[in-house]
Amino acid sequence: MTYIVTDNCIKCKYMDCVEVCPVDCFYEGENMLVIHPDECIDCGVCEPECPAEAIKPDTEPGLESWLKLNTEYAAQWPNITTKKDAPADAKEFDGVEGKLEKYFSPNPGEGD
Ligand code: SF4
Ligand code: SF4
Repeated sequence: MTYIVTDNCIKCKYMDCVEVCPVDCFYEGENMLVIHPDECIDCGVCEPECPAEAIKPDTEPGLESWLKLNTEYAAQWPNITTKKDAPADAKEFDGVEGKLEKYFSPNPGEGD
């Protein structure tokens, strides 16, 4: 198993998660982060740290497409280990439905 980042991270991107990961397996896109499933050691430390509750274990049902998205973009986006400021409008997007369809960006973030 692995932990993965899901829909509610998009445009929230609080980044509390990167500070606690012992193996630095978060990767940064333009408006969300993903976890590298082969690097994650399933410690679960990041899950309660996410203010948007976007981090889930991939053992939860219905997350196959998110596992695929995390796997695909962790291979393309730069590694991120240091917390940056959240977007100014992060709160407005917390809990908005269907963010993948509306707002997902395949562009990479800046990384560390
Ligand atoms: S803490 Fe949650 S919302 Fe913030 S970047 Fe990490 S996964 Fe995304
Ligand atoms: S479960 Fe642990 S190893 Fe995996 S991403 Fe979260 S903090 Fe990192």
